[in-house]
Amino acid sequence: MQHNLTVYNTLTRTKEKFEPIHPNLVGMYVCGPTVYSDVHLGNCRTFVSFDLIYRYLLHLGYKVRYVRNITDAGHLEGDNDEGEDKFAKKAKIEQLEPMEIVQKYTLGFHDVLRLFNTLPPSIEPTATGHISEQIEMVKQIMENGYAYEVNGTVYFDVDKYIQEHNYTILTNRKLEDLLNNTRELGGQDEKRGRLDFALWIKAKPEHIMRWPAPWSVGFPGWHIECSAMSRKYLGDQFDIHGGGMDLAATHHTNEIAQSEACNHVQPAKYWMHTNMLTVNGARMSKSAGNGFLPGELFTGNHLLLKRGYSPMAVRFFMLQAHYRSTLDFSNEALDAADKGYKRLMAAIGLLDKIIPASQNKIDVDIKTLRGRCYAAMDDDFNSPVLIAELFELVRLINSVYDGNQQIDATTLKMVKELIQHFVFDVMGLKEEQGGTDSEQTETLMDIIIDIRNEAKKNKDFTTSDRIRHELSAIGIQLKDSKDGTLWNKI
Ligand code: AMP
Ligand code: ZN
Repeated sequence: MQHNLTVYNTLTRTKEKFEPIHPNLVGMYVCGPTVYSDVHLGNCRTFVSFDLIYRYLLHLGYKVRYVRNITDAGHLEGDNDEGEDKFAKKAKIEQLEPMEIVQKYTLGFHDVLRLFNTLPPSIEPTATGHISEQIEMVKQIMENGYAYEVNGTVYFDVDKYIQEHNYTILTNRKLEDLLNNTRELGGQDEKRGRLDFALWIKAKPEHIMRWPAPWSVGFPGWHIECSAMSRKYLGDQFDIHGGGMDLAATHHTNEIAQSEACNHVQPAKYWMHTNMLTVNGARMSKSAGNGFLPGELFTGNHLLLKRGYSPMAVRFFMLQAHYRSTLDFSNEALDAADKGYKRLMAAIGLLDKIIPASQNKIDVDIKTLRGRCYAAMDDDFNSPVLIAELFELVRLINSVYDGNQQIDATTLKMVKELIQHFVFDVMGLKEEQGGTDSEQTETLMDIIIDIRNEAKKNKDFTTSDRIRHELSAIGIQLKDSKDGTLWNKI
């Protein structure tokens, strides 16, 4: 296969030519969601970014084994192997079994990703389904001398590891800085070193999710799950390991240490990290409480939202930024993305109405344009540049449709192929159900909203309420704001 794909590798901090370990078979592991609550739009950004990467690799002809786990065990509230288990806590609040929590939010996660038209991974393993693999790995790490047990809990010995390995290889942080960010150990601490982290944790009596292991009845640490599952399905060494940038400093740093200590090799050849979705510059996160749920975004039912946006407009919004740049949420940016998505789809809708001419008189060289689309994606999956190239096509299609240029049948076929490959296969966009809103619909809605405003002005609330209810019954929601009345489909 002849490709010039380059990917930015967090490990080397450079863009590298992509050369999989086994030609034509790519192993990719992406850290999946922690399913004790709904995924927010920030989480979705990471999964949509890896969907773009997965789709492009498939488009290039690679066979890809894409593994994305479900974290359903071993997530404590504190960063330091302390605090209550997040699943058990949520189970108490919602009066459910922890595994009911897992099921509920896993199903919700799948529903949301389906709306965003992401492809399912090849394997979606759960942490609770791979306890024995995690125990095996902990045993091996202990045998190799990189872990120790205290009172039924097993810790990874970072001091020992540091003697022969570069512990902060992924982030290049200074060890002194790391140490300054962790608290001094006290008399009651079991750990030997401040940076040590738990591989296996002895369950306290109130801890519900627990399994027998040689050291205690307990549960695995968070990091070991990904090391054990990636090893099981992709081998000791595989091609791509990904996740959000927030995971690099601790979760992925510890994964590398565990896997090296167990298998004596660096687990992934390319480490890829997506940047954060932010709200007013702050990272969207579950704990900060600034997370939009995708459902709120689609209906517009959120204080910060002017109106609702369709899943494809939101997907387009995400792809308009490169996966390694931050993406700041705003109504204006979403409005612009919505317009862009609709312009693209409207032009695609015209393609079947164009009657080919006997000769070609167009001002774009399609072969060159196709080359530029591949060049954009080959440059570390640069979707914003790809979109800019595709808008050259939109301009061309509109111009041909308006009769200003002529296109022959062969060239028209090439244009259609380009759209199929890049808009649908690679970017994963699709025509929304019911099609995009035509100008006629927009004008009709303006008329209806004007009539309703008149009625309200005349205190004829029967009519204004009737309009709202009848629209709602056919799936159109009105929202009154200081900028006037806005509408969206629900
Ligand atoms: P979690 O469920 O919190 O473990 O997160 C699942 C994935 O979403 C991880 O890969 C995180 O790095 C990623 N993630 C969390 N917050 C954001 C955000 N604001 N923007 C982009 N990705 C995020
Ligand atoms: Zn992980």
